[in-house]
Amino acid sequence: MKLAKRMDHILVESAFEVLVKARALEAQGRNVIHLEIGEPDFDTPAHIREAAKQALDEGYTHYGPTQGQPELREVIAKHISETRDISVGPENVCVVPGGKPIIFFPILAMIEEGDEVIYPNPGFPIYESMIGVAGAKPVPIPLVEERGFSFDLNVLKDSLNDRTKMIILNSPQNPTGGLIPKEDIEAIAEMVRDRDITILSDEIYSRIIYGESPYSISNIPGMLEKTIILDGFSKIYAMTGWRMGYGVMQPPLVDAVNKLMVNCNSCTASFTQRAGIAALTGPQDESEKMVAEFKRRRDAFVAGLNGLPGVSCALPQGAFYAFPNIKETGFKADDLANRLLQEAGVAGLSGTAFGAYGEGYIRLSYANSLENLMEAVERIRKFLTK
Ligand code: PLP
Repeated sequence: MKLAKRMDHILVESAFEVLVKARALEAQGRNVIHLEIGEPDFDTPAHIREAAKQALDEGYTHYGPTQGQPELREVIAKHISETRDISVGPENVCVVPGGKPIIFFPILAMIEEGDEVIYPNPGFPIYESMIGVAGAKPVPIPLVEERGFSFDLNVLKDSLNDRTKMIILNSPQNPTGGLIPKEDIEAIAEMVRDRDITILSDEIYSRIIYGESPYSISNIPGMLEKTIILDGFSKIYAMTGWRMGYGVMQPPLVDAVNKLMVNCNSCTASFTQRAGIAALTGPQDESEKMVAEFKRRRDAFVAGLNGLPGVSCALPQGAFYAFPNIKETGFKADDLANRLLQEAGVAGLSGTAFGAYGEGYIRLSYANSLENLMEAVERIRKFLTK
């Protein structure tokens, strides 16, 4: 069976691959601390689960509107308008199965063969995959540790040309935990103001933050019309397995995304959307507690990592990933990640799983207990001092 050429561009998410390797080691009786997968180690809050159960009993077991239930889109539009200080309505919202389709569908809908799309590197690997599948040229812009893992704005500016159709921003970022400062967002808006460039602003970690709030480019006058906001339920409500996310965009793109959705999924699961309403309108204290716990772990874990020989780790401003610089250890990132798994029982990801500019770093998720995180630090210490 011969696969289509476009499959050459599909990358996989190595978090899932490393998880399989780690599970295989565990099956042999080895103990592994899982710091590879990007999901909260918390349960979905009870009132959200209850809303889903009730919805099942009330008959939300049928197809629903492709764009998403109007009540949920209303609630999302209000949430996004309030949190970004912008004005959007339910007509701007597409509810889809997870945040990922808001990368896939808008890129398929907007990007032509030969176009160029700018994206952060190291960054979420799905960006590069989907740019490639659309037949466009992926243009990676390095994130600079000394700039808090924001872009080098000169490199970004020099990369713009008439073929540039989209810039993907992600703040707070996976895998670095960095936040793009407001001045940089403003500078980027200035660069695209007079160009026909769309911004895909991946804001999935917008509420998993430890200090300064992230700034959405959609807030800048004139930018809302050029921006697609990606957000969802997976991270902030610990709902990764529910598969529900959303995008906020201009109506012509909403129509296109609806067409792709109807061809692909028909609609997002109906009872989960009722749970989505409960998530956004119900008590937020479980999410707040989760973020407070992530902060506690971040502080202890990063301090621990900074005590390791050859390791220095910037303090993440959001998400739940530490991205330690391991250049001084003398190991290549792939080699270190692999040996930590095989020899120390610590599953993490090589920085290069997020692109070539991730060399010199590994990603360790701190969505694990403080006890396990500190044990992981000790295992890494033992390995590095061996
Ligand atoms: N964007 C980023 C930066 C992510 O890290 C993830 C998930 O890991 C997503 C989008 C997709 O989230 P979902 O699981 O809702 O599809």
